[in-house]
Amino acid sequence: MFTGPRSRRLTTGLAACLAGVLACLVLLTACQTEKEHSAELFVFGTIVEVKVWGASQEQSGKAFSEIQQMFQGMHRDWHAWEPGLLVQINEAFASGDGVTANPEIAEMIRQSQWVEEKSGGLFNPAIGGLVALWGFHTSDYPIIGPPPSQADIDKILAQQPSSLDIRINAVQLTSDNPFVQLDFGGIAKGYAVDLAVARLRELGIGNAIVNAGGDLRAFGRHGDRPWRVAVRKPGGGTIGTVEVRGDEALFTSGNYERFREDAEERYPHILDPRTGWPVRDVASATVITGTGTLADAAATALIVAGMNDWTTVARALGLSQVLMIDDAGRVYLTPEMANRIQFDAGVDRVVVDRAPAP
Ligand code: AMP
Ligand code: MG
Repeated sequence: MFTGPRSRRLTTGLAACLAGVLACLVLLTACQTEKEHSAELFVFGTIVEVKVWGASQEQSGKAFSEIQQMFQGMHRDWHAWEPGLLVQINEAFASGDGVTANPEIAEMIRQSQWVEEKSGGLFNPAIGGLVALWGFHTSDYPIIGPPPSQADIDKILAQQPSSLDIRINAVQLTSDNPFVQLDFGGIAKGYAVDLAVARLRELGIGNAIVNAGGDLRAFGRHGDRPWRVAVRKPGGGTIGTVEVRGDEALFTSGNYERFREDAEERYPHILDPRTGWPVRDVASATVITGTGTLADAAATALIVAGMNDWTTVARALGLSQVLMIDDAGRVYLTPEMANRIQFDAGVDRVVVDRAPAP
């Protein structure tokens, strides 16, 4: 299972996944050096690379298969539109029934509630009804067609679905609002990465990186140097690199990869819960903080906050290391982020020190 040239294994894996074979979630590990072991897994439509430094091949292999199984379970339970636990939960909410979740979903709701509250509702995982209305409950991009009708958007907005409408009692959930439809698209990858890191630590691994296409969490070191990771930029490529300190997550939310389009316009997949319409003036938001869950959800919230309000929302979320790229490709960042990134040549940037006056 853990041998063979990397590119062939990857291609085979993707082909199998496209054919809908869930069992291909993890395909391989490669022993690149005596000290480093890595695996490439497939979950949430992304390749997740897990690298471990300084553990034995046996210990690493066990960790990789455990994480594979965890990811498989998450894919099944957290999916917003394929039949599974989350779809059942949303059905129960819609009909006003209580429902039994599991500890991971209950915790993801709790964390979502915190981010929703602190971001003033800009991050809102209960707007699954709007996400579906825009046609974003699909894996096939781009989506071609006009936007939904304003009347349909208004119908959902009028009900103000919020994760704060959900009551959690251990793993029992109820919603006061039948329009609450959970969609963890903005937070699930971060939470998955955190759970994977927690498991790696439980297994006694002291140095690792879990990297889902540039969204990642890393802890420990890569031998005698820190883990070094790239910061993605809109349209592909990177703008620079960061050396990880201790245990940190780095997530970039891009408003450019997934969209709906008609003859006139592009409608990106991140929605402003206040208007029900896609957000436009930000191309990407990058956050470095302690957990993947917060980094992921916050990056989504900052896209919604836009170029005028991002510093205020970053502060409300307790974040100091943030980088934003606007739709013209201009880079704005906090001083703390400026201290962290080693920029590629030719990247112009503006360091923004304080929130603009209200
Ligand atoms: P991300 O790539 O992490 O920014 O997540 C984007 C995904 O989050 C979308 O595809 C939707 O599933 C979901 N989403 C869209 N708008 C919001 C929002 N305002 N708050 C929370 N989740 C959202
Ligand atoms: Mg996100």
